[in-house]
Amino acid sequence: MSKIEELQPSDTDDHSYSSTPGDVFLAFVDAPVKENDEILIEDSFIGGEPKWLHPDSEPSAELLKCGACKSTDNMKLLLQAFSPLDDEQMGAIQQRIGIDNMNYINPQDDRVLYVFLCTKCQRKGNSVRCIRGLKKNKNVDSLSEKMASTSLEKDFQINPFDLSNNSESKYNAFSSNPFGGASANPFGADSINSNVSQNKEEGKKKESANISAKAARKLHELQKDKEYDESKCFKSYLLYVEEETFKNKKPAHLQLPKNLKIDKEALDLTGDEDLEKDPVKLDPRTEKLSKFLDDDTFQKFQEVVGYNPLQVLRYDLGGKPLLYAETKVDISSTVPVPGYNPSSQRIFEMQLMPKMIFDLEEVVSVDNGMEWGTILVFTDVENYIPEFDEHGVGYVEECVKVQWESRT
Ligand SMILES: [Zn+2]
Repeated sequence: MSKIEELQPSDTDDHSYSSTPGDVFLAFVDAPVKENDEILIEDSFIGGEPKWLHPDSEPSAELLKCGACKSTDNMKLLLQAFSPLDDEQMGAIQQRIGIDNMNYINPQDDRVLYVFLCTKCQRKGNSVRCIRGLKKNKNVDSLSEKMASTSLEKDFQINPFDLSNNSESKYNAFSSNPFGGASANPFGADSINSNVSQNKEEGKKKESANISAKAARKLHELQKDKEYDESKCFKSYLLYVEEETFKNKKPAHLQLPKNLKIDKEALDLTGDEDLEKDPVKLDPRTEKLSKFLDDDTFQKFQEVVGYNPLQVLRYDLGGKPLLYAETKVDISSTVPVPGYNPSSQRIFEMQLMPKMIFDLEEVVSVDNGMEWGTILVFTDVENYIPEFDEHGVGYVEECVKVQWESRT
């Protein structure tokens, strides 16, 4: 395994953020995982326990240990992201950096990134680790069969309940990249807002197979949240993905995000306070971070995030990370080549955003909580896996760079 070093913020150099709009996909918290939800490999979520690519195919114990204390006891899953690759996109990225090996790029393969953090080793090297898992899928038929066998009631990402027939708004499990499809979330703000009025009446008439997306969401929300063992994992939430836009004009902390403007009475969601909690949760964070305000990099970070303040994940394969703090050296130049594939290179793929902390930690703690500002994940551009098991599954470690909150 390659040694991973984590960089402390510093105050030199300028690595301005220059990913172009439209390249970046953002993930947002959808709903808490409920006790009856069956997590599918195509789901992306934060917290909870990992869903491995096959029940009998787990990563080696070595990959699951904290790199600092060498124990698995306090390793908790932060994020599981379903992120299959698009061959066209990967071909272009490989060409750009002078690599030519598409042997392991297959859009039909299940590809999942798992990010774990050791809660006892904050700020220590290798205490945050990323595992990339790949499951080979030979042909479309097997995928179709798999999707056909999916229980409609349990699958909220694919949204069997959306009768709007707007194919663009549907999550497509076969799309090259879940982070590449617009409005992946069946329960996203747009669909809720547009459906509220017309569905209020007709929603009541529709039952079972004809149930509306809104009603399905409501039923889902009424279920009990999945119980979890606090000592083993964080509370888990499903994610949905949208293309990054910069429509919002005001700074984040001064406005309610658009998707929170939901008429509770129209939705008839009694007792559901989650939608209102988030902006409140942001406040202590904003205050705490204001000490960085003379840091240009952090200001840029805040500005970009301010347009979509509830983002918990930025997905920008082959793009540039949005840095939380300035660094002495160009972070990407410190990313090692994959130890299991030394002729290749790693590229930036995604970063975890600090809003995630407020979702994962149910009790907001300024003194005792997680202290990362952003977690950057770099992955092998060849998507190489040295060894597959009898289920066609293989796992490797990818490179993580953490920018911790600065201490003053
Ligand atoms: Zn540890």
